[in-house]
Amino acid sequence: MFYDYAKINVKGGDGGNGCVAFRREKYVPLGGPAGGDGGNGGGIILEGDSGLRTLVDFKYQQHYKAERGVHGQGKNMHGHDGADLILKVPLGTIVKDAETNELLGDIVTHGQTIVVAAGGRGGRGNTRFFSARNKAPEIAEKGAPGQERWLVLELKLLADVALIGMPNAGKSTIISMVSAAKPKIADYPFTTLTPNLGVVDLGEGDSFTVADIPGLIVGAHEGAGLGHQFLRHLERVRLLIHVLDMTAENPVQDFKNINTELALYKESLSGLPQIIAANKMDVPQAQEHLKVLREELGATYEIFPISAATNQGLTPLMGRASRLLQEMGPVGPVVDEEAVRKVVVKKSEPFTIMQLEEHVWQVKGQKIEELVAMTDFDREESVKRLQRIMIKMGIEEELRERGALDGDSIIIGKMEFEFS
Ligand code: GDP
Ligand code: MG
Repeated sequence: MFYDYAKINVKGGDGGNGCVAFRREKYVPLGGPAGGDGGNGGGIILEGDSGLRTLVDFKYQQHYKAERGVHGQGKNMHGHDGADLILKVPLGTIVKDAETNELLGDIVTHGQTIVVAAGGRGGRGNTRFFSARNKAPEIAEKGAPGQERWLVLELKLLADVALIGMPNAGKSTIISMVSAAKPKIADYPFTTLTPNLGVVDLGEGDSFTVADIPGLIVGAHEGAGLGHQFLRHLERVRLLIHVLDMTAENPVQDFKNINTELALYKESLSGLPQIIAANKMDVPQAQEHLKVLREELGATYEIFPISAATNQGLTPLMGRASRLLQEMGPVGPVVDEEAVRKVVVKKSEPFTIMQLEEHVWQVKGQKIEELVAMTDFDREESVKRLQRIMIKMGIEEELRERGALDGDSIIIGKMEFEFS
């Protein structure tokens, strides 16, 4: 089974709580505030790893949580930040918010990262609330909760090797013979052409992805050709296997024609190294053509006689492809800038007020909800500070205008208050 889809839950670590403490020293009867800040919670980060090929790791574990920040302590000791949790994903992973379907990013290069769940900010200790007016603040913030959401990960295959060649040369046959896994291709947004993709698994973690470029025929560059979407899967291609039908009239001419077309069609691809798969060698007349091919192109290109239909010579061909890929090293920089979409950072929205029923109101908004979550309701000073900020933000005024009365219930985040 080839895993190209996963749904996971990610949660950034909560921030550590700020501390309320006062200095206690010999001969100092009434020390000032000395409560340290809580540490920030760790974030959840996705990182591209060229060594991975599937999303199988995410089948067995669905929930991921980063470390929380440590609480602040007395003597102005700040809590340590929680560690980030880094999840490695294969190149070609598309990340979406499962609820909103919003695209968060594409992972296409090794080492590329996306923060998918931010850690909560650490709460401030009471030292931070010291002022001329309040020299002994009995107030500290709680840590903000870490961001939590469900993600959908989809793996769009990026091919390492592309097969080129005339129609009927045997490209599809080769892919079907060498593929250990057939990725699901139903999701690919192609209109007329279905790409043919396969994962070649040589064992011991040695695997690579092969794609057939189906629309590459003489004259293809003049027509609509292949969509941009398809080319995205070829961004990682580092090697071309040129498949020739050795029973055709003139395989050498076919080879030249296809290369001319490729140069017109996508120059960056035509500059890649090529090896030749001389196919259909099970047919007797192919032997004569092979001799000519060797004479004409043998000095410039490595030639592998094969018979895809009878599975002859495919192992050395794929072994050579694998070694060449290894020699070339990991994926180079991505050429197509557009493919690397940036993570959308949402602006903090102003609050909105909804009446849920008579005498019950809900206030929504990132800032106000976070503020409520960070308020320690056991401390009067903290509660008063929250009230002051709500007034400053205009929430109280807006509630009155909308018709809220003393005694009504106001729901913000997980808390319910009485309006007064
Ligand atoms: P593609 O258009 O390049 O994808 O070519 P296909 O893989 O669809 O093959 C075209 C035709 O050639 C099919 O009828 C295959 O059965 C046949 N074919 C492919 N490989 C061989 C081979 O090694 N020997 C012979 N005799 N026929 C082959
Ligand atoms: Mg085909």
